[in-house]
Amino acid sequence: MATERVGGGDRPLERASSTSGTEVDGSVDSAESDLAAALEVAVEGDVRFDEYTRVLYATDGSIYGAQPAGVVFPRNTDDVRSAVRVAADYGVPVLPRGAGSSLAGQAVGPGCIVLDLSRHMNDILEIDPDERRATVQPGVVQDDLDDALEPHGLRFAPDPASSNRATIGGGIGNNSTGAHSVRYGITDAYVEECEVVLADGSQIRTRDVVLDGPEWDDIVSKDDREAEIYRTVRALVEDNADEIEARYPTLKRCVSGYNLQKVLRENEAGEDVINLSKLIVGAEGTLGVVVEAELSLVTRPETTALAVCCYDDLLEALAAVPEALSLETSAVELMDDEVFRLAAESPEYAEYAEAIPDGTAAVLMVEFDSEVVDDLSAALTNATGRLVDDGTAFDSIEALEPETQDRLWKLRKASIPLLMSMDGDPKPYPFVEDASVPPEELAEYVASFQEILADHDTTAAYFAHAGVGTLHIRPVLNLKDGDGVEKMRSIAEDVTDLALEHNGAFSGEHGDGLARTEFNPKLYGPDLWQAFKDTKSAFDPDWRMNPGKVVYREDDPTDIREHLRYGPDYASLEPKTTLDFDDDDGGFSHLVELCNGCGTCRQTDGDVMCPTYRATEEEIATTRGRANLLRAAISGEIDPEELYSDRFQEEVLDLCIGCKGCQSDCPTGVDLAKLKAEVKHQSHERNGTTLRERLFSNVDRLAAAGSTAAPVANRATNLPGARTALEKTLGIASERTLPEFQRETLVDWFADRESAVDPETADAGVVLFPDTDTNYSNPDPGKAAVRVLEAAGVRVAVPDLGPTGRAAYSKGLLDDAADHGEALLESLEPALERGWSVCFVEPSDVAMVVDEYRSLLPGRVDDERLERLVSNAYGVCEYLDAHRLDERLPVDPEDARERVTYHGHCHEKARGADHHAVGLLRRAGYAVDPVDSGCCGMAGSFGYEAEHYELSRAIGSLLREQLEASVADAETANGDGTTVVAPGTSCRTQIGDFEAYDRPPHPIELLDAALER
Ligand SMILES: Cc1cc2nc3c(=O)[nH]c(=O)nc-3n(C[C@H](O)[C@H](O)[C@H](O)COP(=O)(O)OP(=O)(O)OC[C@H]3O[C@@H](n4cnc5c(N)ncnc54)[C@H](O)[C@@H]3O)c2cc1C
Ligand code: SF4
Ligand code: SF4
Repeated sequence: MATERVGGGDRPLERASSTSGTEVDGSVDSAESDLAAALEVAVEGDVRFDEYTRVLYATDGSIYGAQPAGVVFPRNTDDVRSAVRVAADYGVPVLPRGAGSSLAGQAVGPGCIVLDLSRHMNDILEIDPDERRATVQPGVVQDDLDDALEPHGLRFAPDPASSNRATIGGGIGNNSTGAHSVRYGITDAYVEECEVVLADGSQIRTRDVVLDGPEWDDIVSKDDREAEIYRTVRALVEDNADEIEARYPTLKRCVSGYNLQKVLRENEAGEDVINLSKLIVGAEGTLGVVVEAELSLVTRPETTALAVCCYDDLLEALAAVPEALSLETSAVELMDDEVFRLAAESPEYAEYAEAIPDGTAAVLMVEFDSEVVDDLSAALTNATGRLVDDGTAFDSIEALEPETQDRLWKLRKASIPLLMSMDGDPKPYPFVEDASVPPEELAEYVASFQEILADHDTTAAYFAHAGVGTLHIRPVLNLKDGDGVEKMRSIAEDVTDLALEHNGAFSGEHGDGLARTEFNPKLYGPDLWQAFKDTKSAFDPDWRMNPGKVVYREDDPTDIREHLRYGPDYASLEPKTTLDFDDDDGGFSHLVELCNGCGTCRQTDGDVMCPTYRATEEEIATTRGRANLLRAAISGEIDPEELYSDRFQEEVLDLCIGCKGCQSDCPTGVDLAKLKAEVKHQSHERNGTTLRERLFSNVDRLAAAGSTAAPVANRATNLPGARTALEKTLGIASERTLPEFQRETLVDWFADRESAVDPETADAGVVLFPDTDTNYSNPDPGKAAVRVLEAAGVRVAVPDLGPTGRAAYSKGLLDDAADHGEALLESLEPALERGWSVCFVEPSDVAMVVDEYRSLLPGRVDDERLERLVSNAYGVCEYLDAHRLDERLPVDPEDARERVTYHGHCHEKARGADHHAVGLLRRAGYAVDPVDSGCCGMAGSFGYEAEHYELSRAIGSLLREQLEASVADAETANGDGTTVVAPGTSCRTQIGDFEAYDRPPHPIELLDAALER
């Protein structure tokens, strides 16, 4: 039975902006609650020890998962020091964390206090272009730093594939690097000085200290932790000089163990110095917390060029690496056919894999940049001459244009997440994925690696940094099975032996974490292993900083098999669902478990996913956070009943605005909007629905009544006090502009006019769907669509149809949505049988039919009828573009028209359909700037809901910034400005509510305006 739960809590927004919010629920024991309370007193930033937060911070991008005690969000260095001191008082371990995108489990800390430095400590403090230095806080996202450096022609050299969310602090922790390490090496070369908070809360500045100079004497003369560290580290390095020389692999990349080999060096003046920054880099947070770092920068190449050489055999591609390296390259990367195969199946990446010729078993991507090479075109010709004509490659792609190169790099960077999208429980897991060997030994190493895999009856994909001998090889295993876990351990033993034979490192990129720390004694031998332990003790005598990573206590050894996220004990419930999850091979739980924690949904720019994170910077507002909480519930990590609790609804589900950004942008395809609709539906079944939910789900009926009563209905909502009353009773934000109802609907207008098309000559027919907004409130786009379609010779009908069910679907009222879908199909059937298509002005309605009906209607309507509707449903611009009907329009393309800033709708982007309007407008003579914009934040009813109004505006303000950049560009370019255009009703409403903006037109209106009459 339905309950009346009008309104709703405002906790999510409080949460997003509060400075304090310890939540101590029943599951937190009293020691932890004392600890939480002590932290609350000690720090300014938030302290959260609640169950949800512990789940959110239990995982990273690795195979591991273990709940921390709680999380602190430090606002400044004092907070870090205070938190670390409280942790010391309570004897609790501490784990500094950035974006949590690590692949070896170093950001997973059972029972730790996690310090999330990404939330507040993310300022760029200074850029000194002359000295080529930047000073930053640790939580700065690397791409954000890069954006700030671009105007100075500079960049931070290490470029991990995860740079759009990975923080500088995390990069320092992991000694990260990327595709360009062939040229630039790894992070430790670029970290000059660090402010570090030690385990006792004291603070040191690591920098070049001249050995035996006055500064050295001053430091070691004291009786404090800093002096102890300097004395110990120097002695360890000097005493172990021979072992260091013999044991550290001489590779461009070795990130196993501590960087003892890099601490003592010569400065530019030729003096012997000690710089502990080099030791802090790669220490994975085990020696202290970096609260500020001074980085050295490199000049940004003005241009680059890329040769992609295609081989029909993987080992031949690897054997060609030394030849590629003999050219003046800035990167030599490899991808194999498994990556192309998965990309071809992914809606997000299929288009990027199209360029790869059939029969390619592997490609070498060989890049050149203008820093070193004067004639890039000649460099490409030379490369293909050497690698294709005189070498073993059978084909090549030469890319000089930045767009083509970007597309190929995008494919390369998606390799890891694409592999993780593999269906079923066996997955290509990271645990030996970044062992490194000298590049000239790569082919031999991989051949032996393949034998190890065959011995263990498994396979792997091969890709990544061939030029530096670091190939990402992920054996496919089922870790939910005990045998799979033992196989993992056995493969790790064999591969580490193999890497050792080739003078390699067990990790050349992703670090030790929980996956590789156990093997460090094998790599470094007993003396250096003891030196690591002594180093750890000097910095952190009680071993409380991120314990068990890089080095372990003999009485508590790290084991690759412990703390697995999906271990043999993992089991998930497969809930009975209303939506059909068959397409998601493995059902609801499989879709949830597709999230591997890669953190792409924390990206700060580009694409759509995930707007709620961008606006709140809260982990719970990421796709990953939502998926983690869903996984916790279906696996019993938290009470499965929690799924239906008010808290879960309000904080986890209701804040997902259903933009479908993740459907296309999440590399593994975690479709949270679909998961949300299902769980909301189940929750309604148990708890009923609110009046407002029912009202919004049936907004079409409300609009029909409003239209009948217009203009009285419009005046009524504008009466003094009416908006406040609406907010109080129904929770509709009083600040929002409500739709104005029109007395004459689109359907009425159409019925009263003569068709401009002769039925005898028309070769196509379209039912134009009169969506709620277009029919009752804003008919202009609908009228324009009719005129344009008819001008293209298409017969049009605009019948009175019910809704698609989008509004009900987004509220989780799936039975209502399915009823609407079934009724619509019934109404459209005669036209579909005649071969007509159905066109939509509103992108969310066409997405409803094309995407959602496939999982909503099976079982209710037969597949053939459903398929006929789905395959004949189009956005109006999509229809015109797909059939090239604009070529029939009376439009003079020579007419130079105004500049247009195009903001696509998220649902259009999720279907990969936003290019249609752009193409049409361009061919009609408009100069279009398609903004890589995010979500508008309105999301149907979301932006009208009082408790979501602020979040909706916050998301909208990010869009506004993007539009303003386009407007500014236009003004610089032509002085005339630009017309913002948007196909979505929600977007047009949100933009129209921005100060100084009018409600933008739909692109079809611009096309209509271009018609010669
Ligand atoms: C799809 C994918 C692709 C990747 N590609 C690459 C790649 O190309 N190259 C590469 O090197 N890595 C790569 N990684 C791994 C990872 O993204 C990088 O190492 C990244 O730099 C980690 O940054 P983060 O902010 O996520 O750090 P986190 O994972 O949060 O932390 C990393 C480590 O640093 C420590 N740490 C964090 N902040 C601090 C601090 N302030 N002080 C001291 N210690 C700190 C943590 O304790 C942890 O041990 C990839 C990961 C994924 C999922
Ligand atoms: S939801 Fe997708 S993008 Fe986000 S962490 Fe999970 S797999 Fe990565
Ligand atoms: S549907 Fe949109 S808001 Fe929801 S998780 Fe996906 S990207 Fe984020």
